[in-house]
Amino acid sequence: MHKVKSLFPSEDGNLQQQEQLLKLIEKLVSTMDSYKDPNKTSLGAMKEQGSHFYKEMVEQSEIPSSGEPLSEVVDDLLEMVKGHPYQTRKYATNAIPMASIPGLLGMLTTTLVNSNSLWDVYSPIGAEAEVKVASMMANLVGYNPKKSLGYTTWGGQGAVFTSLRLAIAKQFPNAKEKGLPQNLYCFASPGAHYSLLKSVEATGIGSNQLISVNTKKDHTMDEEDLKRKMIEVINKGGVPLYIAATTGTTDSFAIDHVKAIKETADEVTNQYELNRVFIHADSAMGGFYSFFNEYDYDNNPLSFSGEMLNELLTIKARMQHLHMADSVCFDFHKLGQTPYVSSLFLAKEGKDLSLLDLKEFDTPYVGNRGYGSYHTGYTLECSRMASSISMYATLLAFGTEGYQKLLAKYVELNLYFRQLIEKKIPQAAIVNQENPGPITLFRIYPSDVMWEKESHGESTIDEILKVNQLNDQLFESLGKDREQVFLGDTKKVCLVKAADHHEHVPIYAGKFFSISPYTQLEDVEEMVDFIERHIKKIVGGKDLAVQY
Ligand SMILES: *Cc1c(COP(=O)(O)O)cnc(C)c1O
Repeated sequence: MHKVKSLFPSEDGNLQQQEQLLKLIEKLVSTMDSYKDPNKTSLGAMKEQGSHFYKEMVEQSEIPSSGEPLSEVVDDLLEMVKGHPYQTRKYATNAIPMASIPGLLGMLTTTLVNSNSLWDVYSPIGAEAEVKVASMMANLVGYNPKKSLGYTTWGGQGAVFTSLRLAIAKQFPNAKEKGLPQNLYCFASPGAHYSLLKSVEATGIGSNQLISVNTKKDHTMDEEDLKRKMIEVINKGGVPLYIAATTGTTDSFAIDHVKAIKETADEVTNQYELNRVFIHADSAMGGFYSFFNEYDYDNNPLSFSGEMLNELLTIKARMQHLHMADSVCFDFHKLGQTPYVSSLFLAKEGKDLSLLDLKEFDTPYVGNRGYGSYHTGYTLECSRMASSISMYATLLAFGTEGYQKLLAKYVELNLYFRQLIEKKIPQAAIVNQENPGPITLFRIYPSDVMWEKESHGESTIDEILKVNQLNDQLFESLGKDREQVFLGDTKKVCLVKAADHHEHVPIYAGKFFSISPYTQLEDVEEMVDFIERHIKKIVGGKDLAVQY
């Protein structure tokens, strides 16, 4: 039996233990490399899951009575990771990036010293990286870094939750002790991330008081409808508390107009002499496109094509207003190319976070000492992963230009995908045509494209549901072969009116999300061919036009 002590890195830096650790890491990396195949989207063959896959695991799992040697543990892990999705060139599903090398190195650094960002006494490097990253990203969105305050948290979801806590604390500083008033209302478009739904539930606001604001043709929030619904709420005795402006929706990459939303909200609250509504720009997905705010469009140093410049300018026209929001978020583990979980929440007025802080008496074992000056008692987490180190390393390694190149490449590949879909698949509509970015949503029809009709509320509910069903069939078929090309899909691009029904109906569409640094134009061609083949397959191998 081995000594328990041998399960730890050395305390003195001796070469023997160092080598042992490096060898295990080397085995992990080299064996995983041996599984790689650029023409597959998984590490080796995907595992077949029988109907009892997890049931058997439940029945068979137990803790070994004496420990296994580390090399066997590594073997076990390497067996388990077989068939794992991997972000090769044909990987185009939701924003799950390949973790970049600086991202990995940052994460390794934090785990090697097991840094706990709760307090700078426990994580001096985490605190330092967090302060630096928050300041860098504040500058990027146009916040004053001397006033703003940010910290890393549990995902874009955590940022949404914290922003809602902050909104409550600002209007109702006593709610912490006394609980919430029962008449608070939140507003968002149907494209907002479901993090908000969970947050209104968990804060006790209640999901009935999350008001869905209609969208415009480009899937962004309709400010006129926002105004109408805010006034409706006020007239009923409600208090408008919070608006989620989704800046880059998860499915269609629609970028809500933060400036127009802010002006609309302020106009209403001024008129009714109410407190200002808190606006969270949910930029978890899209925030990284702020890297194009300061691009020199005249001299065009990265030589983008005219078409690309147009796309980037359209994005900039919206992203440049992020700073008008009270808080923003960056999911580094999406377009920032870091490992999970690394999200940054950033509040414009850092002092507001003190409203959420605990008293000295309530945190007996941390903070409030003569040593250590950075204690994050205002976070919902207690212990926190120092993911800031990974973000910091990635920002250093990519630089503004690195991000601009990569994110522009995603836009370019996506543009090409759209062109090919239009050319090769006449029975498909691109339903987020007006949203430049890394995402295309394509909806297929039995024969003629009916998107115009559907989006204008002229299709019957039966017609819409039939088309949804066809698209669902396509998702299933594409999904089975995801080892070759890994695409995404969504069952709620947006809600449309049906001509013969009072309720709004969700629209289904397939999703191409350019997220692999290895994808090239020719891969996009193959992906479109792949989609074409699957469409033919689901309609019985016949030509679609013939079939219908
Ligand atoms: C992904 C996403 C979230 C949730 O983020 P997690 O990091 O998965 O918790 C929230 N909002 C938007 C707009 C997102 O795209």
